[in-house]
Amino acid sequence: MDQNIDTLNSLLKAHPNARPRLHAKAHKSPGIARMQIEKHDAVGVCCQKLAEAEAMVAGGVPDVLISNEIVQRPKLKRLAELATHAKISICADDIANVRDISAAASEAGMQIGVLVEVNVGQNRCGVDTPSEAVALAQEIVSLPGLEFAGIQAYHGGIQHVREREERQLAVEKVVAKAREAVDALREAGLECPVVTGGGTGTFEFEAASGVYTEVQPGSYLFGDADYARNDCPWQQSLFVQTTVMSVNPSRGTAVIDAGLKASSFDSGPPLLAGSLGKCFDVENGGDEHGILVPKSGVQGTVQLPKVGEVVRLIPGHCDPTVNCHDFLVGVRKGQVEVVFEISGRGPGF
Ligand code: PLP
Ligand code: MN
Repeated sequence: MDQNIDTLNSLLKAHPNARPRLHAKAHKSPGIARMQIEKHDAVGVCCQKLAEAEAMVAGGVPDVLISNEIVQRPKLKRLAELATHAKISICADDIANVRDISAAASEAGMQIGVLVEVNVGQNRCGVDTPSEAVALAQEIVSLPGLEFAGIQAYHGGIQHVREREERQLAVEKVVAKAREAVDALREAGLECPVVTGGGTGTFEFEAASGVYTEVQPGSYLFGDADYARNDCPWQQSLFVQTTVMSVNPSRGTAVIDAGLKASSFDSGPPLLAGSLGKCFDVENGGDEHGILVPKSGVQGTVQLPKVGEVVRLIPGHCDPTVNCHDFLVGVRKGQVEVVFEISGRGPGF
């Protein structure tokens, strides 16, 4: 984890105008968020869910961007309440929603920063055109309790494009769309104080663009099996520790006590850390089981692990894996050094 923190700092050194705003959805732990802010001299963190943001603020994080849309008045009331304890900003792509945010902020006597989310190709949230971005920003400016904070221009779909040059090319289109929105806003008399986006796979390119003022990598801290398939510099630092609970020598398989509730399979199965990973793959054994099967093409007889043996998994996808657990146990040179509570885990309503 320390190495990944150093790598991120060295990659961002050349781009001092793009400050890191690390995505806390990866770890959901305020203790880690505070450490990141200190070690990266970061503006703050991002959260994807309101409950995640509440956990960060309760854990002493002073500046949170909710890099997502939050709707419904009871939630917006919580958002405004949260803004009494920390600097809070949020994304929006809908006029009725920004009116609701304004009503909640005014009622609480608070100012909330609102960024217009611009669709830069993922076709998830965000306005599609520069003129829609301008119309929404003008509405934000006109409403009490709101501050127009800039734009979010994030494309999640290109983070796992395997080749670095292809990711770079894909980001060019993202940057062009972000620039178009910034220019249209400027022509309408609205400066964008913040242009934010970029994840672990692409943030160096957004940072180098001259358009972005913030980048939002999250998974860089842990890596995972899927990011390892990118040509990326990240070390694996997140493991799920499991125990062999059954061995079948005639089939040549072993079973571990970690299934779908311990490590996510949405980006493929976890890998086995260490030398076991050279001989075995992990297959889905259901909610509470993982099955170690010999890798195809492995020569000769492979040594099966023993019942009771501890083995470590490298998760397929770090974010949903962390969400399954209560604590992250920080180990250095075989010694437990720190335990971080994952207080933002859960569905995060
Ligand atoms: N920003 C936004 C808006 C996201 O949705 C995500 C992840 O889904 C990230 C940043 C961080 O991505 P990564 O964990 O791949 O760095
Ligand atoms: Mn992810």
